[in-house]
Amino acid sequence: YQRIVLAARPRGAVTPENFRLETVPVPELADGEVLIRNHYLSLDPYMRGRMSKAASYAASQALDETMIGGTVGQVVASRNPLFRVGDHVGGMLGWAEMGVSDGALLRKLDISHIPLSAYLGAVGMPGMAAWYGLNQIMAPAAGETVVVSAASGAVGSVVGQLARLGGCRVVGIAGGPEKCDYVVKELGFDACVDYKAGNLEADLAAATPDGVDAIFENVGGDCLDAALARTNAFARVALCGLIAGYNGAEMPIKNARLLLINRLSLRGFIITEHMEYWQQGLQELAALVADRRITYRETVADGLAAAPQAFMGLLHGHNFGKQLVKLI
Ligand code: NDP
Repeated sequence: YQRIVLAARPRGAVTPENFRLETVPVPELADGEVLIRNHYLSLDPYMRGRMSKAASYAASQALDETMIGGTVGQVVASRNPLFRVGDHVGGMLGWAEMGVSDGALLRKLDISHIPLSAYLGAVGMPGMAAWYGLNQIMAPAAGETVVVSAASGAVGSVVGQLARLGGCRVVGIAGGPEKCDYVVKELGFDACVDYKAGNLEADLAAATPDGVDAIFENVGGDCLDAALARTNAFARVALCGLIAGYNGAEMPIKNARLLLINRLSLRGFIITEHMEYWQQGLQELAALVADRRITYRETVADGLAAAPQAFMGLLHGHNFGKQLVKLI
């Protein structure tokens, strides 16, 4: 089967030379192991951090090893009594057509009401990041105004829809008129500001007449500063990501003084460190997706070889919604 390994660490922007496609033999299973054919691979911004050597909250990805990544697929052989051939499963098998798991981090997936791919998006890690940041950090009351950056994406789209269900006024920030249109018309946000139009501060001010009570930050830089400029006293910031800086750009907070003046609280979080919430969160998200009260969009690259290009695109906003790679 084929897999993609990290061939070299990026210096600045990620390039195709950072990856290598290889063919490797299907291993014999040991007792307790499961062989899985991956149907979808998830591409996520955090992978950029893992490609660097710089110490982060997680260890960096080893060179010449399969690129890390979440996957969903089907069991094709099993020597583990908990998994049967044909079971749909989610795991972390990485950028590869197949993989072996000892079952420990493998999750059985019910696809009777929810498409398999959604377990990598709204009913997976991105959905949980949205759920946790909104409920455990921002905790907005009905009627409060919430701002969400990267609003059309895997995480942002769920944040906004959950906040709307909770009765908030929700304002997105996204790149370009097409994404902003989708955020308002399909996802039901109250407004969405196009940061590429060149008037971010003024446009966000116009969209938040009552100020901002909570911010879900995915981007950093100008997006965060524009939202901070609108904060009311005691507003909360859930700092989920700083994608504008993942290629090495500095991410100063120009409006830092407002943290003091408006008595703001800002908390960063890493969703995989809060596993105690996953059962409850995923259950709620699954019910909302099954009822179509949460909708989502996917950008699907075809075949493993397309993964590097799709990943580079993700870091430049070329994806529209959750970025996946379809393997079969
Ligand atoms: P998305 O589906 O939102 O895709 C990334 C989006 O980010 C792009 O589509 C683009 O949207 C936007 N973007 C990319 N580069 C820039 C830039 N330079 N400036 C502004 N916007 C940019 O990805 P996810 O939903 O998977 O992730 C969103 C954020 O959440 C990321 O920062 C990610 O690292 C973080 N995250 C954090 C987790 C945690 O545990 N803390 C867990 C999961 C995700 P546009 O075209 O609108 O600019």
